[in-house]
Amino acid sequence: MRYRSTRGGVRGVSFVEAVMMGLGPDRGLLVPESIPTVSASTLARWKGLAFDELAFEVISLYVDREEISAEELRELVRGAYATFRSKDVTPVVELDRSRVHLLELFHGPTFAFKDVALQFLGRLFELILKKKGGEDHLTILGATSGDTGSSAIEGVRGRDSVECFILYPQNRTSKIQEAQMATVEDPNVHAIALAGAEFDDCQKIVKALFADAQFRDRNALGAVNSINWARIVAQIVYYFYAAFRLEAPPAFSVPTGNFGDVLAGWYATRMGCPCSGLLVATNANDILARFFASGTYERPAAGAVPTLAPSMDICVSSNFERFVFHCSGDDADVCARLMADFENAGSFIAPEPLHVRARAYMRAASVDRDGILRTIRDVHESAGYVLDPHTACGVKAALDLKDDLPSDAPIVCLACAHHAKFPDAVRQAVGDDHFAKIPPEPKLQTLLDLPFRNTVLANSATAVKDFIDATMARRRANKKLNKI
Ligand SMILES: *Cc1c(COP(=O)(O)O)cnc(C)c1O
Repeated sequence: MRYRSTRGGVRGVSFVEAVMMGLGPDRGLLVPESIPTVSASTLARWKGLAFDELAFEVISLYVDREEISAEELRELVRGAYATFRSKDVTPVVELDRSRVHLLELFHGPTFAFKDVALQFLGRLFELILKKKGGEDHLTILGATSGDTGSSAIEGVRGRDSVECFILYPQNRTSKIQEAQMATVEDPNVHAIALAGAEFDDCQKIVKALFADAQFRDRNALGAVNSINWARIVAQIVYYFYAAFRLEAPPAFSVPTGNFGDVLAGWYATRMGCPCSGLLVATNANDILARFFASGTYERPAAGAVPTLAPSMDICVSSNFERFVFHCSGDDADVCARLMADFENAGSFIAPEPLHVRARAYMRAASVDRDGILRTIRDVHESAGYVLDPHTACGVKAALDLKDDLPSDAPIVCLACAHHAKFPDAVRQAVGDDHFAKIPPEPKLQTLLDLPFRNTVLANSATAVKDFIDATMARRRANKKLNKI
């Protein structure tokens, strides 16, 4: 499999190159040059596989064996998914004998779905560095609205050849999310709170530093955000896994921020995964819902508004560019032009056929604060199940859009995080008395008592750049000392 940039700057890139590159040199995203399709007999064979075996099969279609052998890949996925608390890795549960099912993606080390991809990516980075001879190192630079950060940190903490810098908007994540990043003691981990920033500022700084060729090469930068193709590929797996557990092709409802998760679902359906619809659920930050309704992709002048579902408080969805590229018929010129419009003017208007195609693939709905709270309360009351606020957006969007779906189709809502990461929202939704009876998650609660070791920096690319350069110099000096 070869990869190309959505803006036409490179093609013929291998999987390992794409993973190490993160973002294309033209600031486009890397996409597979063709999407592999899976025959009915292969689907039938995959149906019986355990999660890690299925992951091996799906990912194999996107990786050349000369780069990563079958043995290496098998070992990698086995290690990644052995860290999950559920033997099914991503179990599907039925919500009170209704059409609605939950695909529980939060049984990994940090209690959010990002672990599915980042337990894989952390090990993949290490394998790639080892195969290069073990001398190389990598500096992970990532932006997070809350969950990617801890997940990335968990994927690489303590690994000698990897240094990890995570940017997050100060006071915009939940306290537990911040604690998951800021209390980690491993010296290769650096959690950075940007003062007065929102997620989009963090993401913009990451992209700016990746576009700075000197800085990037000097530090051997690597990307953990879902601009990295390896994240998407690992997430394709659970769409197949869930579809195999239902009688009829399901519709998937996906809580969406950076558009990585729902995009993985789109690739899965293109490959032949049984599916009767893809629903994009946003919170009040509804740039995507507005696009699907109108064909105009327009950044709100006021930026992202803080909501009860902070991991979706994003107004520019990086992975949407991959979808735009595919909806244009894989036309890099069209995609580059639209993205240039967006970068220059803050909006683009999709050509009619592109918008029609996008709407044929996906529907979208946005869910407000009241919708989140009521959905958590109703589901708790009717089914005794506690949703986290992100998952609640997915469930509410599914209920709002269900008339657009075939009436006999099961609905699978992606359960993206464990409710214990967002206790304040859950308490508001169900009330103090009910909340007191919901068992807490001790692994998360105890973090709040540990010292925070994060750094606070100004919301500027220069401040981040200087901090990384200074930290890397200090770390190199320390490592040298340790060797002597
Ligand atoms: C990251 C995240 C999302 C959004 O996923 P994208 O791939 O960025 O669209 C939704 N919910 C939770 C809990 C998350 O951590």
